[in-house]
Amino acid sequence: MRADIAVLGAGPAGLAAAAAAHRAGARVTLVDSAPRAGGQYWRHRPGGTGPRTPPVDFRPGHAIWHVERTADGFTTHTNAGEIRSATVIVATGAYDRQLPFPGWTLPGVYTAGGAQALLKGHGVVVGDRVVVAGTGPFLLPVATALAAAGARVPGVFEAGSPLGFARHPAAVLRNPAKLAEGAGYVRTLRRHRIRVHTGQTVVAAHGGDRLEAVTVAKLDAAWRVVAERDIECDALAVGYGFTPQLEIPLQLGCDTHLDADGSLVATADDEQRASVAGVYLAGEVCGVGGAQLSLVEGEIAGRHAAGGAPGGKLLRRRAALRRFAAAMHRTYPVRPGWQTWLDDDTVVCRCEEVPVGEVRRAVSELGASEPRAVKLLVRPGMGLCQGRVCGYATACLTGPLTAAGLRGLAARPIAQPITLAALAEQQLEEP
Ligand SMILES: Cc1cc2nc3c(=O)[nH]c(=O)nc-3n(C[C@H](O)[C@H](O)[C@H](O)COP(=O)(O)OP(=O)(O)OC[C@H]3O[C@@H](n4cnc5c(N)ncnc54)[C@H](O)[C@@H]3O)c2cc1C
Repeated sequence: MRADIAVLGAGPAGLAAAAAAHRAGARVTLVDSAPRAGGQYWRHRPGGTGPRTPPVDFRPGHAIWHVERTADGFTTHTNAGEIRSATVIVATGAYDRQLPFPGWTLPGVYTAGGAQALLKGHGVVVGDRVVVAGTGPFLLPVATALAAAGARVPGVFEAGSPLGFARHPAAVLRNPAKLAEGAGYVRTLRRHRIRVHTGQTVVAAHGGDRLEAVTVAKLDAAWRVVAERDIECDALAVGYGFTPQLEIPLQLGCDTHLDADGSLVATADDEQRASVAGVYLAGEVCGVGGAQLSLVEGEIAGRHAAGGAPGGKLLRRRAALRRFAAAMHRTYPVRPGWQTWLDDDTVVCRCEEVPVGEVRRAVSELGASEPRAVKLLVRPGMGLCQGRVCGYATACLTGPLTAAGLRGLAARPIAQPITLAALAEQQLEEP
C-alpha cells in the first residue's frame, strides 16, 4: 500500500505528527525499529502500558536503513519491507553525546541515556553505587530514577551550572512547567540525600576488569582540572547532551546547520519543512529540546504535511519551548578544556581502538584539517558504530566545530544494520 505520509520514528514527535496528519484525513504509515511506540521518552518495559498509538498503519520492528527519493515520492527501505509514500516526516530523535576520558571504555561506564534506557525499558539498575556526571538537565532525571530504583548515588557531578538560566529570564518564565519539573527532581534528590555538585565532573575511570572508582575534578571556567578526588563506585552514568540522529535527512540531501549546543541538526523552516520538497522534520532531528518541544513540532509537521495549518497557540508554544531549548544550550555548553583530561593513550574511537595520540598526529603531522580527513587517515568512525559515538569528539580534536566537519562524519548510506538475508528477501519481493 502507498501511504500519503510515512512518519519515520514513533517517539513523541512522530506520534504527534502521525496523529495530526491522520486527523487531517491523510493515510499515514508510522514506522519504528522498536517493538513499541514511545521513543526514548515513553520507553516502557515489555507488557507495560505505552502511549496511545494513533489509529494509523503502525509498523513496529521496522528498522529503516535507507530512504530514497523516487519519481512520485519516497521509498523507505526497512529490514521488513518497503514503504512508499508521497511525503515523509522524519522524527528519528537523538542519542547520547559522549566525551572520551581515560578509562571510559571500562565495563561499568554507561552513557546517562543508556543507564536510563536500561532502567525504564528493562528494570535493570546499572550498579549498586552509581556516580552520575556530565552536563545538562538530563542528569537529574537519571539520578532520580536510579535512586528511586534502589541504587546509591554518591553524587551528581554537573560540569556546568544551572545558574546560567538566570541570564535567560524570559525563556524560563515562559516555561513554568520546566521550572516545576526541575524543582521536582531536586526535591527527590534531597529526599535521597544526593548532592548536585556544580563545576565538577568525572575526568577518569579506574578499575581492573571493571569499574572500581572514578576521579572527580573541580573545573575552572574552561573545564580545565583545578582539583581532584577519587570516589569508589561500581557504575558511572555519564552524558554531555544529545546528538541528533541525522542519517535519513542526510541520505535525502537535507540542509543542516550547527545548533547552539554544537550539534549538527537538520534545518526546518517555520512549517517544519526540510530543504528537500516533500520532507518534513520534527523533534530532536532538528534540534535537541526535550519531549514537549518534540510533541509540538510533530503536531505542526503533521498538520502541514496533510495540507492543513496549525493555530497560533501551537506556534507560540513552539517559540517558547525553542527559546527555552536555546537557553538550556547556552547554560550547559561543552567547554574546550575537556581535551586536557585526555592523554595520548585515551581511546577516542572504541570500535577501531584509535587513541587520542593518533588523532592528534593526523592533524599535526599528516596535515588533516577536517574530521573526515582524520577518519580516512587514522580510522576513527570507521568501525561498527560508524562514528555515532566518537564523531563529535573527533571533530573537536581536529579543530573548531563546523557544520561541514560534523556532516562529513554523520553521513551514513546505511542508517541501521541490515542482514544480507533481509536484503535478499526484499530484492526478491521487489525485483
Ligand atoms: C537514551 C535516552 C533516554 C532518555 N530518557 C529521558 C527521560 O528519562 N526523561 C526525559 O525527560 N527525557 C529523556 N530523553 C530525552 C527525550 O527522550 C527526548 O527529548 C524525546 O524523546 C525526543 O522525542 P523525539 O520524538 O524527537 O525522538 P525519540 O524519542 O528519540 O524517538 C525517535 C524514534 O525514532 C526511532 N528511530 C530512529 N532511527 C530509526 C531508524 N533508522 N529506523 C526506525 N526507527 C528509528 C527510534 O526507535 C525512536 O522510537 C532521553 C533521550 C535519550 C536519547
